[in-house]
Amino acid sequence: MRIRVDQSVCTGHAMCNVQSPELFPLDDVGYTALNGEYEIPAGQEESARRAVAACPERVFSIIEE
Ligand code: SF4
Repeated sequence: MRIRVDQSVCTGHAMCNVQSPELFPLDDVGYTALNGEYEIPAGQEESARRAVAACPERVFSIIEE
């Protein structure tokens, strides 16, 4: 599973990071530190899905393979 991240629409709610701090790091001012596409490690898909669903700005989209 991969995710696509559009950092330009992040407004810094940090809900992604609350759900999954390791997969969804924040920058120094509380916005997502991610931008682009990322492979989700095997076994962490459910955690990633929760974080994706928690974002109110739809910063993340899931790319099923
Ligand atoms: S939940 Fe969404 S808007 Fe909030 S920090 Fe994470 S990516 Fe940004």
